[in-house]
Amino acid sequence: RYGCKMKKLEDYVRSIPDFPEPGIIFRDVTTVLQDKDGLKLAIDSIQDLLKDVDFDVIVGPESRGFIFGVPIAYNMNKAFIPVRKKGKLPCETIEMDYDLEYGKATIEIHKDAIKPGQKVVIIDDLIATGGTIEAITKLIKSLGGEVVKIVFLMELKGLKGRDKLAGFDVEAVIQYE
Ligand code: AMP
Repeated sequence: RYGCKMKKLEDYVRSIPDFPEPGIIFRDVTTVLQDKDGLKLAIDSIQDLLKDVDFDVIVGPESRGFIFGVPIAYNMNKAFIPVRKKGKLPCETIEMDYDLEYGKATIEIHKDAIKPGQKVVIIDDLIATGGTIEAITKLIKSLGGEVVKIVFLMELKGLKGRDKLAGFDVEAVIQYE
């Protein structure tokens, strides 16, 4: 029967051991995106987590946060604000340093991107250590925005990224142990 053949979202994710470093299982989202049904399922599944949320803007980090953040902002008639790696944004920015599962980084947001009091949703492909999103919540707070929800396509539960985001409403479509 047709129902038996339907693929779940996790069936589209390709898992690659020891990339980019030994011991890390890389959850590759390109195999979701390169299938038209996978792409639709991914966007729809994340968007579904926001259907009852009152918010003004979506913030997404470079680069996979853009892939999911923009179509959902467009569908929901909201604005999209990019967070980028240091040195890419052309106007006045604020920046934040943070640790990654594999390395260190600095991210930036335009100072005028968020107005005080705006309700913000953060979207990214995956939460690992939570370092990236924790840094983004600090940037949003210092601009006077209020993070009302944080959504991911995938969550690596073992890395306990949620602990860094205590106090925030966090949801993920797919969870890996
Ligand atoms: P983190 O700040 O540790 O939560 O992770 C930051 C970003 O690194 C995530 O948004 C992913 O894009 C990427 N990332 C970290 N670990 C993995 C992984 N195991 N598989 C795929 N992407 C990852």
